[in-house]
Amino acid sequence: MTPASERPVITPETLRQLAFDQSIRWTSQNDDIWQLIDDDLWKLTRNPSLVLSTVPEQALVALLSRADCHRLVEGIVQAQEAKQEQPTWFASQQYATKLSRVAYFSMEYMLSEALPIYSGGLGNVAGDQLKAAGDLGVPVTAVGMLWQHGYFRQSIGPDGRQQQLYPVNDTRQMPIEPLLDASGTPLRLAINFPGVQIWLRGWQATVGPNRLLLLDTNDPANPPVARLITSELYGGDNEMRLRQELVLGIGGWRLLEAAGMQPEVLHLNDGHAAFAVLERARSYMARQAVSFEVALGATRAGNLFTTHTPVEAGFDRFPAELVSKYLERYAEYELGIPLADLLAMGRKHAQDPHELFNMAYLATRGAGAVNAVSQLHGHTSRYIFRELYPRWPVEAVPVSHVTNGIHLPTWVSPDAEAHWYELHGDEIPWRGTDRASVDDLLARVDDRWLWQIREHARNDLLRFVRSHLARSLAVHGASFSEIEVAGSRLHPEHLTLGFARRFATYKRPNLLLQDPERLARILTHPNFPVQLLVAGKAHPADRAGQALLTEWQQFAARPDIAGRVIFLEDYDMRIARHMVQGVDVWLNTPRRPWEASGTSGMKVLANGGLNLSQLDGWWAEAYADDLGWAVGDGLEHEPEHDAVDAEQLYRLLEVEVVPAFYTRDAQDIPTAWVQRMRRSMSALVERFSADRTVREYTEHHYLPLATAYRQRCADGSALAIAITRQIIHLRNHWHEMGFVDVRWDRSGEQYRVEARLQLGHVEPAHITVELLAEHADNCPAETHPLTLTHYDGAFTVFHGQLPASRPQADYTARVIPSADLGLAVPLELGLILWQR
Ligand SMILES: *Cc1c(COP(=O)(O)O)cnc(C)c1O
Repeated sequence: MTPASERPVITPETLRQLAFDQSIRWTSQNDDIWQLIDDDLWKLTRNPSLVLSTVPEQALVALLSRADCHRLVEGIVQAQEAKQEQPTWFASQQYATKLSRVAYFSMEYMLSEALPIYSGGLGNVAGDQLKAAGDLGVPVTAVGMLWQHGYFRQSIGPDGRQQQLYPVNDTRQMPIEPLLDASGTPLRLAINFPGVQIWLRGWQATVGPNRLLLLDTNDPANPPVARLITSELYGGDNEMRLRQELVLGIGGWRLLEAAGMQPEVLHLNDGHAAFAVLERARSYMARQAVSFEVALGATRAGNLFTTHTPVEAGFDRFPAELVSKYLERYAEYELGIPLADLLAMGRKHAQDPHELFNMAYLATRGAGAVNAVSQLHGHTSRYIFRELYPRWPVEAVPVSHVTNGIHLPTWVSPDAEAHWYELHGDEIPWRGTDRASVDDLLARVDDRWLWQIREHARNDLLRFVRSHLARSLAVHGASFSEIEVAGSRLHPEHLTLGFARRFATYKRPNLLLQDPERLARILTHPNFPVQLLVAGKAHPADRAGQALLTEWQQFAARPDIAGRVIFLEDYDMRIARHMVQGVDVWLNTPRRPWEASGTSGMKVLANGGLNLSQLDGWWAEAYADDLGWAVGDGLEHEPEHDAVDAEQLYRLLEVEVVPAFYTRDAQDIPTAWVQRMRRSMSALVERFSADRTVREYTEHHYLPLATAYRQRCADGSALAIAITRQIIHLRNHWHEMGFVDVRWDRSGEQYRVEARLQLGHVEPAHITVELLAEHADNCPAETHPLTLTHYDGAFTVFHGQLPASRPQADYTARVIPSADLGLAVPLELGLILWQR
């Protein structure tokens, strides 16, 4: 027992802190205290701050004076403290002192049901990475928006059509509190819109050791239209979107600084918040008394842009007049640059007055590094961004990738966790980097043990589905007898497929419905029946997506199908959690390459679920034939090809998936199936976890960016000034350069190369002259820098020697900006001169 002196003091404030911490997952293992306070409310909302908000302070004091309650809370607090005292991954890295803070900007965050400020995938990535950063001890402060209505809530009408509902988020019943300034008064900030000042309010949520700062405009001092800026996530017209992005980007950076933060790294989760790049530079200008160019040169070295869309149409773009209306004064008075220069940052061609202002281009032009979210998406993104780097080979387009991952403790079922705990005496496996120990653990359990976890999980899911369904029916006015039989045709031992996603056409949610009769035969097979759970919302403006949703309603309502396909209305984090924990197979059928990464399929892995998915996004790099199933041939096709994919999907279900599930040994265990589960768990769980993602971001991006930023700032921005000079110098004189000739001599096994150039006014120190050979059969791509040997008024000679291992004709010479000072080439300066 802990000595009394070390035991935590438990007060209502202690409870509040627990209720507000978004890093704590409440499961049947630890949620007794909320059940005790208000069991019904807890079960309905799973929102501890809401449960607390309904109880008067005195009642809480009385409750906590009860020995059993006191003990419960004490147990949770001690568990939290023990967790916090453990050395974190980040703190144990020798470079930990090189990074004091990362600012993470995202339009949405999916952390818990208690904080409904998310729509889907993007918020999931942000929320899961924020939690993982907390677990790993990476210091991140997140910035987002407090949406008064969140994303719309879905109800399905009797006609099978989606209806959109917009209940209000009550700030007093959410796990957030006003953000206070140093004197303890709530923070209020101003930002200027044309002719009117808008007030922003600051809020904060706690995520373990880190914080999420939130902004809203719902200040009574604002004109009503301004109060509605933070009303609906992804709601409103183009101008509304621009206003939201100004609030998030410019307001968000101001809020961070007002809260006393000076992060080295700014991580933009998608381009929505790209204006933060400008505001960060503006703030640096004001503090350091330097020009905008130098300020951007210094700060962009610390900016990371993560792009999330695989198609150009997915970028936010605004007409120039709209951007001018809101930012003309900001550009001229605050940044000290002509509006045209600001507009040029969002365009491919600076001078084209018809080109829209693209937030992804602004983000790229303000970044020290850019990354995509899966290997395939990296490839796709290099094509999309290649026009920003004219004449550069597409492989050199500066977009790398960090594949997304999910926060395991959020998505693994409490029951599976308990099983692992029993075996392992610790958390779930997979949280370290050591795959051997995971395989070790998997080797220690027999097929029965693993299969029982699945059987349990499927059972739990079906229980949830029945109650969700009964509630939906009741809300829609069904009769008692209808409610009573809700979900009664679901069977705990039948193969259960899950399919939940945004109903957008590119996700092809109706691929399975290409041949409804064939799907019906699969579902209603007399010996090997299959049941299917479907969920998902279509954006209120997406008519095509809504039509697909109605198609599913109609199919599910067919008398021969009734009860085997269940549509769960109002897809959200709670439904997702139950589904990914309980289904046997997760289906995903996007049109390649439109799914940048996708994360929902990753959530089933640790729960023993298997994936049957299009070779797109994360699955294109995860799939192997012994751990799941793949649709598609790994190529891109036009929509006419959908029928081929559908055929393959049906065949896989008929010939592989269903038989594998129902082929049992003497103990009724599908051994081949369980073998697949083992392979999938062993190979994929850790690799597609947010722990791995955040470690990768930290090592490959945050640390190098923080270091580069510090270097550029040091000594009165000396390096930023030098690099800005290099950029301006090269921009002004690049056109004066030309190749005179390149001479090759072979002596023995070596080539001697001499390149003669006319440099005009270009200083040789600012450029790199190099030979390049592309990748060819058996020969990898090569580059060989040449060194300056001779410089006079007429021409300049660069020289080099290389092994004569491939034909001279493979090589070509080129000039690019020198990276010696630390300039990121071609990200910061995409000039290039080819010999031919
Ligand atoms: C995981 C999750 C998503 C992301 O799903 P993808 O289809 O993989 O992009 C969306 N919404 C919810 C509620 C989720 O839990």
